[in-house]
Amino acid sequence: MRSSSGCSGRRGFFARLMDSGPALPTDGIFCSVCGYCMPCPYGVDIPGIFSLYNDAVDAKDSCGRKFLKTYEETIPYLRQANHCIECGICLSQCPMSVDIPKEMRRIDELVESFKVKELMK
Ligand code: SF4
Ligand code: SF4
Repeated sequence: MRSSSGCSGRRGFFARLMDSGPALPTDGIFCSVCGYCMPCPYGVDIPGIFSLYNDAVDAKDSCGRKFLKTYEETIPYLRQANHCIECGICLSQCPMSVDIPKEMRRIDELVESFKVKELMK
């Protein structure tokens, strides 16, 4: 059986962890929103996600709160970064040589960490 002190101690640990991060990186993705990489056969809204991400970086949304809210509201669930299976089909289509699957994984990890951060409040 878990003691309440154990739970609060664990919660305190995660709260401290989340206080110190995560933060939105300060560097954007070199995407011109040309759409040549579309359609993604797995439904990922590549330019939409990168555009939102770059807007958040430009707005210096360091805590990621606004980014997370806008992401959840404007990118339909089935088109979000977590649906990228890293097939690589889009890679050869991008004139800006964006490593799309790598960026999708990075954004998805960021989104998940922001969700945990919100839950721990
Ligand atoms: S690598 Fe990801 S984003 Fe690119 S086509 Fe495949 S599933 Fe879609
Ligand atoms: S092809 Fe490259 S630059 Fe164009 S929208 Fe897709 S990721 Fe962005």
